[in-house]
Amino acid sequence: MTVDGPVVGVVGTGIAGLQSANAVLERNPDARIVIFGDETHRTYNRPGLTKKRYQLLTSGTTITDELKVDGAASDSATWRLGTRVESADLYNKVLQLRTGETFDYDSLVIATGVRPRISAEDARECAIHMHKTLRDLDDAHHIHRDLRTGTELTIVGSGFVACELASLATEYGCAVAMLEARRRGPFERVLGERIATALGRWMTRNGVTFLTGDSARDRLCNGDSSAHSEPSSDRSLLVEAIGSVPNVEWLHGNGLDLSDGVRVDEHMRVPECADVYAAGDVARYPDPWTAESLTRREFWKNAIDTGDLAGRSLASSLGCGSKISHIRYFPLMSTEVFGLRIQIAGNPKAATSMEVVRGDLDRLDHGVVVTFSKEDLLVGVAYLDKGARLNSIYIDLVKTLKAHRR
Ligand SMILES: Cc1cc2nc3c(=O)[nH]c(=O)nc-3n(C[C@H](O)[C@H](O)[C@H](O)COP(=O)(O)OP(=O)(O)OC[C@H]3O[C@@H](n4cnc5c(N)ncnc54)[C@H](O)[C@@H]3O)c2cc1C
Repeated sequence: MTVDGPVVGVVGTGIAGLQSANAVLERNPDARIVIFGDETHRTYNRPGLTKKRYQLLTSGTTITDELKVDGAASDSATWRLGTRVESADLYNKVLQLRTGETFDYDSLVIATGVRPRISAEDARECAIHMHKTLRDLDDAHHIHRDLRTGTELTIVGSGFVACELASLATEYGCAVAMLEARRRGPFERVLGERIATALGRWMTRNGVTFLTGDSARDRLCNGDSSAHSEPSSDRSLLVEAIGSVPNVEWLHGNGLDLSDGVRVDEHMRVPECADVYAAGDVARYPDPWTAESLTRREFWKNAIDTGDLAGRSLASSLGCGSKISHIRYFPLMSTEVFGLRIQIAGNPKAATSMEVVRGDLDRLDHGVVVTFSKEDLLVGVAYLDKGARLNSIYIDLVKTLKAHRR
């Protein structure tokens, strides 16, 4: 086969991988792009996995159809689905595939995302629960199918995947217990103890058995609860949602900084290696929004923006497209838990103080706006509401926040 353009390998079929491939092709249509993914599906809307109840799951088609992503059906790139990249020799520019093949490239994008953290491997064979995690479409097919049977669900953790899942499971008619052994309530790491405690009450008000501290620990599956006893045939479902681990093991041996994902510069370029870029959940980049100088974000828009930037930087290194820009991601996220919309802007984690500027944390559904500051400078805003009554206040604060960062 004659290859005219440069060969670009993209590892990871998530949105960051897709976005970077599209950004390269836009600037260099001659590039030959090959996208490797260990999943058998092309890019889909991962956040959609927990957002709603799916009706027809017998063949799995409904959920797949509803999660389609623009541009994923295009064949301008070659898709190698179900093909795990086992390792990389970044100096000789060659990937080792699980199939036994090798792949030589000119430039590479690392977009392998994260996987769920699990508490203990042997707890997976607990006698009481069927242990699962929720990251991909195949996990979602199984979990939605189990929820439709009205199973009892135990969720370990209270981050946004855990909260969305609790909300979804009660819609399916399941009894839900949430166990948060380390913190007081949902989103404590991001929004602090007071909001977390209020959100814990919100979960309880909506029928969830929400347990923290020792009461949660007592319900966790540990060695005693039978990792080694015979599993019962009617185990109920337990989903661990206790954070994630970057998928970087395949990059070992190349001298990269992989201490929390792949460290990149402000153009998403891997500093230790020419022609290698990283994007999405797996990338740790210099960020003016954090107290620390480098950050990794696990959000859809972050994956789109950093994927696009990695693709543009890569194209620029090949002499295509205009001068590259720096990362300019403005952190915005939202989720909905039992009808309560939670919107967060900026970086509340960097704050040293918080103030409830509207509403009452005891009445979240009436609307609450909270600001977060560091040394009198606004660094974050959160808005929790069942409607949009305080939207204009929130939008004004977000504008102020953006203006501070120019
Ligand atoms: C249930 C759920 C709900 C979410 N809800 C929201 C939300 O409401 N809002 C929001 O902003 N974000 C949400 N997120 C997070 C968001 O989905 C991610 O930030 C985003 O999908 C990250 O995209 P990515 O391309 O970086 O990584 P991923 O989407 O994880 O894609 C990486 C891909 O690489 C593959 N891969 C890994 N290693 C290899 C290898 N060695 N070889 C080949 N392939 C490999 C993985 O299997 C995966 O397919 C949610 C996530 C989950 C799991």
